[in-house]
Amino acid sequence: MRILLTEDERNLARIIKRGLKEAGYIVEVAHDGEEGLYIAENIPTDIIVLDIMLPKVDGLTILSRIRKKGIKIPVLLLTAMDATSDKINGLDAGADDYLTKPFEFGELLARIRALLRRKSENKEALIRIAELKINTSSHEVRRAGKAISLSSKEYAILEYLAYNKNSVISRAQLIDHVYNENFDCDSNIIDVYINFLRNKIDKGFKNNLIHTVRGTGYMLKECNG
Ligand code: CA
Repeated sequence: MRILLTEDERNLARIIKRGLKEAGYIVEVAHDGEEGLYIAENIPTDIIVLDIMLPKVDGLTILSRIRKKGIKIPVLLLTAMDATSDKINGLDAGADDYLTKPFEFGELLARIRALLRRKSENKEALIRIAELKINTSSHEVRRAGKAISLSSKEYAILEYLAYNKNSVISRAQLIDHVYNENFDCDSNIIDVYINFLRNKIDKGFKNNLIHTVRGTGYMLKECNG
């Protein structure tokens, strides 16, 4: 599950990102509205946690622009304590929920879970790459109908590569998404997990889906060549 956090207060953004990663989410952070809008419009995301007061483009403008474009990603607004009008305007502009700052981290997690639950009831969050199917709600992975059992780290790496299919992802990006920021590790750990994944995903199939891009990183794509 991938969360876009748009928050310009860097300390707060760092704390939220760390907590969400610990809870198993992939987190992209945008520190201003322009970057947030770009990510919301261009990168597949399951939920957006959106601050209202942002440099360049404010949160309510981002919200109404993406809704006008027909993007239905659940949006959780972060609002200032005394701004009732922000809450009303936000819900009117298409927000799914809001949380008043300052908030307890546990409440943020619970609201995110509730929004994701509602979303997965609406539609199975399925990523397909050739005959590989990844259910990002249940974390079930199948290739050609056969269930594949993955560890949580293997799953996190596969899901991240799948969200970015046909793009090269570096070892550093994978480490950043799979481990906490202060985890000190050798990027070889990623190669080890990729080998495990190859054994589980590609072994016995004619077409490999996991590709090594020499000197750069890894890519998930449908065919060789
Ligand atoms: Ca702010």
